[in-house]
Amino acid sequence: MTRVAQVLIPMPLPEAFDYEAPEGMALEPGDLVAVPLGPRQIAGAVLSVREVPGLNRPLKPVLGRYDEPRLPPTTLEFVQWAARYAVDAPGMALGIALRGARAARPKPEKVVVVTGQPPARMTPAREKVLATAADEALAPAALAAKAGVSSGVVKGLIDDGALAIELREVPLAFDPPDLSRPGAVLNDSQAAAAAALTSMLAEGGFQAALLDGITGSGKTEVYLEAAAAAMAADPQAQVLVLLPEIALTQKVIERFTQRFGAEPGEWHSAVTPPRRRRVWEAVATGQCRIVVGARSALFLPFPHLKLIIVDEEHDGSYKQEDGFVYQGRDLAVARAKIEGAGIILSSATPSLETLFNAEAGRYRWLRLRARHGSAVLPEVELIDMRETPPEQGRWLSPPLVKAMGETLARGEQTLLFLNRRGYAPVVLCKACGERLCSPDSQSWLVEHRYTGRLVCHLTGFSMAKPAACPHCGAKDSLVSIGPGVERVEEEARSLFPEARIAVFSSDTVFGASEARELIERMERGEIDIMVATQAAAKGHNFPGLTLVGVVDADLSLRGGDLRAGERTYQLLAQVAGRAGRADRPGRALLQTWAPEHGVMQALKAQDRDAFVEAEMGEREAAGLPPFGRLASIILTGTNPEALETYARALAAAVPNAEGLEVYGPADAPLALIRGRRRKRFLVRADRTVDLQAFLATWRARARPPSSVRVTVDVDPYSFL
Ligand code: ADP
Repeated sequence: MTRVAQVLIPMPLPEAFDYEAPEGMALEPGDLVAVPLGPRQIAGAVLSVREVPGLNRPLKPVLGRYDEPRLPPTTLEFVQWAARYAVDAPGMALGIALRGARAARPKPEKVVVVTGQPPARMTPAREKVLATAADEALAPAALAAKAGVSSGVVKGLIDDGALAIELREVPLAFDPPDLSRPGAVLNDSQAAAAAALTSMLAEGGFQAALLDGITGSGKTEVYLEAAAAAMAADPQAQVLVLLPEIALTQKVIERFTQRFGAEPGEWHSAVTPPRRRRVWEAVATGQCRIVVGARSALFLPFPHLKLIIVDEEHDGSYKQEDGFVYQGRDLAVARAKIEGAGIILSSATPSLETLFNAEAGRYRWLRLRARHGSAVLPEVELIDMRETPPEQGRWLSPPLVKAMGETLARGEQTLLFLNRRGYAPVVLCKACGERLCSPDSQSWLVEHRYTGRLVCHLTGFSMAKPAACPHCGAKDSLVSIGPGVERVEEEARSLFPEARIAVFSSDTVFGASEARELIERMERGEIDIMVATQAAAKGHNFPGLTLVGVVDADLSLRGGDLRAGERTYQLLAQVAGRAGRADRPGRALLQTWAPEHGVMQALKAQDRDAFVEAEMGEREAAGLPPFGRLASIILTGTNPEALETYARALAAAVPNAEGLEVYGPADAPLALIRGRRRKRFLVRADRTVDLQAFLATWRARARPPSSVRVTVDVDPYSFL
């Protein structure tokens, strides 16, 4: 008998490989092992171990087992489910799950220990150090500080041999949550929602709820209570909180730390590898019971996951567009099903997909219709840009400028929202009419004045702004067209020179601590006018903010894709919801060229239900999500002929299927990125069709040449 281990390798390979398990090596599903792959040695995960009577072909052996905790069976199941869902290689999903396991280990710490050898000479200071060191092993500087002596005293004792330096592994430190601490006193509707969630969790098994509450209604307080209930019911229960953006994690981590007296594990791309490794291991051993993180936290190896909370569930940032393409919110529901756990989807403006499920009764629907305390929703007004346009070369209309002046005079704050980074989105030569493009992509260069560069937001390419047009050579002919946040800031400064003004966008704020500092200054009222992209517009509470001005309310409607209306409504309702938090009523002014548009009218009337009904009607008539399903297939290649030939071959290989249409191939709207040409297919299917099976069959029927890359995007959010 030979034992054969089926090992999944974190690479884009179609399936797991068999290896021989050497005699004496205990192996179980989920174990992390080293295996040979060609000339390389690589880490993979054991999917199964079976006994076979004899091998009909020689197998390479498993080289060794790592001592990391093994992946729980449900994590393995989820990884494979996610791959089938995304029509991608299971190894790609495993790669995300192993990101923390293979990260660099935390460096051992230097600590000082007592050797037992008496020092050559004793002084009161030395006595104090020895007593302190006997109590606790500390780093040299910490020891000196705690004993209240200079670092020279510690060094002297080390030289004498009375103390020695040792290297120690930093222990995993995740304190257990203290469930006896009291939560906030909930208002009636919060208490009702919390009770409904608690009873849902008490039923056990997979259960889903939509926590649908307007901005400021206190959804966080409600889901904190649900988390407390889940952890109280089961002393091992783990809770995962997902957020769409790194910038939002800090706030939620603070709320959990306050509530449970213990810091949750933090998980996102900005967490250092050693910390990530620590969180990964502490999750796998069950020691870390609360994780707050970005979408990839879904792939962590939880052995006892009992509750997932997806905050701001409507947010498009849950969609991962590169590498392994997935919608984090949808996979969160799948993971909850696999774990037999509860899931709470929370939003003030839920996605149509989630509302569809709530309406169909698949999710419990809990609504919070009022703000907590005396706070009221802001008034939303539309500014018709055709009637009261800004002056030539300006972007703020007279009514908005007037409101800003009044707000400033009252000592209150204004947020100007424009979802466009940089100074100007387009740079044009007025001599030849050329628009400056990225050299290897079909994307316009955006002018950034802070850095004096022209930047491609798609690929990151940048160049210094040239003195002459690169196309016709005319000098001083380049003009900046349209506004970005930097240009709006410039205008605000010229209008209100005495005001304290700040810009918040991912180019002007570097790193999490700088972002935090700016947010805190805004919270403390030290900024009068903040000009911001969505980086600052989501999720924050600014008590002194009473005016929100949306510079270009039509901006996100322009793309015209499936979700343009929904996205615009969600974004602007969220932004408007920043105004008038505490007891000061707020106003939101939306500058628009199309005030009659359904989205603008719904925002003005603050009638989300009417907007949703109209939008649902349109989607249903067209068989679009959530009533039907979509998938894109994107082909890219550097060789135009090979790309064209393959696109034709793929078109000819479409399997026969009912209830499904295939459109394309067509040149993608962004037909060139980083020198690669792009073509797209779009598939629309009825909900009853097994879209993944169709896509997998189709893909397998026409293998691409090596120069062509194929990406399947199930439920696409970008159509570019
Ligand atoms: P949402 O996420 O629904 O927009 P938050 O949970 O951030 O709202 O709550 C908005 C504000 O109201 C926060 O400052 C929060 O601390 C406060 N708040 C909400 N509910 C309560 C409560 N029951 N007691 C005290 N403060 C509350």
